[in-house]
Amino acid sequence: MQEINTDNITIDNLSLQICLKKKISISVLRLDKIHPIISGNKWFKLKYYLQDAITQNKKTIVTYGGAWSNHIIATAGACALNNLTSIGLIRGEEATNLSPTLVQAKQLGMQLIFLSREDYKQKIIPDEIAHTDYYLINEGGYGRKGAQGASAILKKYNSTKYTHICCAVGTGTMAAGLLNCISKEQTLFVVSVLKNHLSINERIKEISEHDLKRMTLNHDYHFGGYAKHKPELLQFMNDFYQQTSIPTDFIYTGKLCFAVIDKIKKDYFPANSNLLIIHSGGLQGNASLSKGTLIF
Ligand SMILES: *Cc1c(COP(=O)(O)O)cnc(C)c1O
Repeated sequence: MQEINTDNITIDNLSLQICLKKKISISVLRLDKIHPIISGNKWFKLKYYLQDAITQNKKTIVTYGGAWSNHIIATAGACALNNLTSIGLIRGEEATNLSPTLVQAKQLGMQLIFLSREDYKQKIIPDEIAHTDYYLINEGGYGRKGAQGASAILKKYNSTKYTHICCAVGTGTMAAGLLNCISKEQTLFVVSVLKNHLSINERIKEISEHDLKRMTLNHDYHFGGYAKHKPELLQFMNDFYQQTSIPTDFIYTGKLCFAVIDKIKKDYFPANSNLLIIHSGGLQGNASLSKGTLIF
């Protein structure tokens, strides 16, 4: 299998006023720098599925996602790299103007099939591909193989010195993977980017090898729901970029960083905490914002 080189990843130490004041250290694991298309946690989550597909001699990968999905574009890229055919089952009717995400997915050879929201919700397999010998990957790469892949995110680094590992949660696959590899002295601080996604605990538990004792889940930083945003969030992302030179996306990592800083302000983290924020990528999604909204 063709793997992605992950040598571009860095760990950046932040020097923010608020951190000095509260005696908190923050480092950011820059998974956004891995690859322009297969960014963030997506390669890690896809790896074992693709390996499994190749072992089973499947030539076609089918998966689900929305018009701006990081998972869709990453799947298209990873399949192209491995000479696999990819089919994206896309939420909602086909728009007259395709999103840049879908344009690029198509350029990478992905076949797009649009499903009505109702069909998408039920995760139907359209008739036109029902008889193809395909390998199905869940929306967002959710599943044990995805979590197993995500466990490798921290492997290359000495992460034992961090008291808290902080990440955003969509399907919970990355969180499940990280839970598998943190120690009992560490806390996984996770921020749900969906509104009232209260079943997420169960979803994570289902695919993790550990119970959830080491995890703290935050439901208060969704800014209206999945892919929703507010001026306060966008302003924060611009300020954060100005202070750190780190770009974030408004769907996941912007909300995560906002949550971490807000919790620091509220004295949630004890003094001398050493935080590692997982920058899980997703920057391509910012193209859905109107031009000029972000300064980066
Ligand atoms: C997909 C994604 C996530 C969420 O990962 P899950 O494993 O689905 O919880 C977080 N951040 C970014 C940037 C993503 O693209």
